[in-house]
Amino acid sequence: MIELISTLYNAAKFYKNWRKCVGQAPYHVELLVTTQCNLKCVMCNVWKLRIKKPHIEKNEMSTLQLKKLLYTLQRMGTQVVYLSGGEPLLKNGILSLIRTAKKENLRIGLFTNGAVITQALAHSLLDSGLDHIVFSIDAPKAGVHDQIRGVNGTWKKSCPRNTRFKQS
Ligand code: SF4
Repeated sequence: MIELISTLYNAAKFYKNWRKCVGQAPYHVELLVTTQCNLKCVMCNVWKLRIKKPHIEKNEMSTLQLKKLLYTLQRMGTQVVYLSGGEPLLKNGILSLIRTAKKENLRIGLFTNGAVITQALAHSLLDSGLDHIVFSIDAPKAGVHDQIRGVNGTWKKSCPRNTRFKQS
């Protein structure tokens, strides 16, 4: 009997919480904005997919479509959006996408492998209002990092470039 009451109580509690969530936007959304990437990481299928389906990029959402999506998410109640990929910094119009998110009062972040960041791009990213940036560094040693990332010289490109944000 006690078991039955406890099961019914838990079911009622679950239903109440479920009702609260229905129709509500996710607080945090991660958007895969492109499958383009400059690396070939061992654990990743994105670059392999692009070899299998070279025209996949044509089916990606345009910057304009992504901006409309940001607008919709904001209206639905989403607070935080992270841009991911592929390497999101290779997406055409990425800076304007970030600016749109800021205009819509969203908190906006970005995942990057860091290898395409020049001093000028670091400056533009800071200027765009980007709130967070996450660098993927797999090891403190260049050899290990490059082995995982599948492209020699990546650590040298990525790590010093993180410091470009300090200089900008
Ligand atoms: S940087 Fe990211 S998207 Fe590019 S190959 Fe590595 S894990 Fe995949």
